[in-house]
Amino acid sequence: MGSGGRGWRDTIDDTSEEAPVFSHHCTACDRTQLIFSSQVTGLTNDELGIAVSFRCWCGAEQATLTGKGARLARTAAVAA
Ligand SMILES: [Zn+2]
Repeated sequence: MGSGGRGWRDTIDDTSEEAPVFSHHCTACDRTQLIFSSQVTGLTNDELGIAVSFRCWCGAEQATLTGKGARLARTAAVAA
């Protein structure tokens, strides 16, 4: 709890001004794209972390998980 991985929180909290820009591998166009704040359609905060939904450059709806639970979710996905 609370150790490691600090820094992202500041970025997320500031979304009204400078929304996150991140890279995402799109499952629709199979390319890693930079996603800008203008493409983000939703942020859902839950106990696993922050689910970010957005629209890829190709028009596909995508979602990714960031925050404290993202690593766990990713590990589970790989293991599954
Ligand atoms: Zn795409």
